[in-house]
Parts: sequence; C-alpha cells; structure tokens
Amino acid sequence: MTSEAFSSLPSQADADRLFEEQLAVWPETRQRYEELAHIRTHDIRLEKTDFRLQFNPARIRSTGAKVDEHSIARRPCFLCSSNRPAKQLALPCGPGFELLVNPFPIFPRHYTIVARRHMPQRIAPYVELLLALAERLTHCTVFYNGPASGASAPDHLHFQAGTKGLMPVEEGWKHSENQLLATRGTASLLLLNDRPCTTLVVRCSQRDDACTLLSDTIARLPLSPSDGEPRLNLLARSEPADGGLTVFLFPRTRHRPTCYTAPEEEHRILVSPGAADMGGLLILPREEDYLKLTLADAERIFADVSLPRQACLDSLSGLLSHP
Ligand SMILES: [Zn+2]
Repeated sequence: MTSEAFSSLPSQADADRLFEEQLAVWPETRQRYEELAHIRTHDIRLEKTDFRLQFNPARIRSTGAKVDEHSIARRPCFLCSSNRPAKQLALPCGPGFELLVNPFPIFPRHYTIVARRHMPQRIAPYVELLLALAERLTHCTVFYNGPASGASAPDHLHFQAGTKGLMPVEEGWKHSENQLLATRGTASLLLLNDRPCTTLVVRCSQRDDACTLLSDTIARLPLSPSDGEPRLNLLARSEPADGGLTVFLFPRTRHRPTCYTAPEEEHRILVSPGAADMGGLLILPREEDYLKLTLADAERIFADVSLPRQACLDSLSGLLSHP
C-alpha cells in the first residue's frame, strides 16, 4: 500500500459515524455496547504492574472458539462478507480492507479491520498499515493477534481497534523500568523489566522508522516450523503529545495457557490471551473464573503464553550490531 492509500484510510470521525449508524440499525449489537457499560471489572497487581479483570460473558464466542485447523476449515468464516449478518455495515478502508463495528465488544468503541479477501492472518506485509491505522484512528489503540496467539479467525487477515487508554500498559509502561535494546532513526526499542509477560516497546516520532525497527524485531523472533510467522501480539497508538507512535510487542509461545484445558473443572480457567490481555485487560467470559482467579493463576497464565525474557533477548542480540 502506498502513502497515498494510507491517507485514504478512514479518519476517527468516519469511524465514529459508522459506529452511530451501525448501532442505530442493529439492536442486538447496541444492547451489547449498553451492557458493556455495566459489566464487572476489578484490578489486581502482578510484579509492579496493574491488571484489570473484565467479566464479559458475550466474549465466550471468541475465547471458546475452536481454533484447530480442522474446525477452522469446517466453519463458515465470520469475517467473509458473504457470511456476515445482513445488518452489519462496512466502510472501505484503503484498497484491500473494510472497517466494521465489532458486535462483541470489550471496549466502548470496538472495531474490526478486515481484509476483503479470505487470506491467512500475517503481519509482515502489513506493519505499516497497522501504524497508519493507529495514526488515523486517533481515539483508538489498534491491535493485531497472531494466528496462533489469540486470534479467533486465524484464517482471515484482520486487525482490531478499541477505545484508547483502557489497557493498563498504555500509560503504565511509562513508570516501568526499561532497558534500551536498539534504535533506528527516531525509533527506540525498549524492553520493560517489571511485567509478568515479556513486553517490548517501540517509541518513535516518524512512522517509517518505527516500521523498520518493528519489522526487524519481528523478523528475529523465534519461529516454530509449524507456524507462518513468529508468535506475537501487537498494540499501536498515536501520541497526541508529540505526534509520535507507541507500539507494544508481546512475543508469545502458546496460543492458550494450560489451565484452558485442565481436566478437572476446578482447575480450568477459560482465558485465551490476545493483545488486550497481554496489555493488561484480562477478559474472562465465565463468572466462576472471574471470581476465582488468583494472582498465582494470573502469573501462571502469562508464564504459559509469553516468550521468556531471556529467549527474547537472545533472539534480538543481533539487532544492536546491525543498524
Ligand atoms: Zn474469511
């Protein structure tokens, strides 16, 4: 996509208009957004980091989705336009994408940016699109879940965008101890030292510098032979204070933690971490899990799905010496 195409991406005002129009004609979705205002949340602290638990029963569709190859191949893809509900509106979003309102929200404004063609979830060719979307959707944080890292439609390329500032890492990282790993032009790559999941941050004032540094970083992360790309989640947001961008990269191992499939019901916790969860907003669709989750459970969940810090540092060791 060229820079001209990026300037034709929907603005925040376009997205706001779509949201209003969509809720006016789709009562079930409007009701879920109204209910979201009253759902239960509470805060916990892990290491030196704040997390917010959100009890969100409507998200069972995503958290409980079967993501094995066989199940994915058999189900009608809910992101393909031919299978979407007749009431779901779509706004053109650059040449190959459409902007939709997410009918199962975790944010007061929650969008999905969907490729027009049914094609696998891949980040490498779309890093700059992710950053450009973050610049255009000024009130949103844009995110990406890798096909084996929380995406419930790994077979259909998509991003999401949600109301900015509701994931604790977005502001909290500024108080974290961090370590500078690499720079490219105006962009810096930092590793945060006090989160229970490995967290990299790219800060920049120029989109193309961030694009280069982020792409170089992703290309160096461990790649399992069965996967098409390194396992990861991404969050990207624009910063009104300096016009720059902040990107959070969470390198991953497992798609879901061991507690997801625990044989005994009392040990089972239905949580399927994606970008929001890694960013500190842990989505729990079952009330029993919301009530019983302990700090030790949360630590284990992140230890199960996050690439260990040393493995991350080892994979990136060449970055500094190859500017
Ligand atoms: Zn599809």
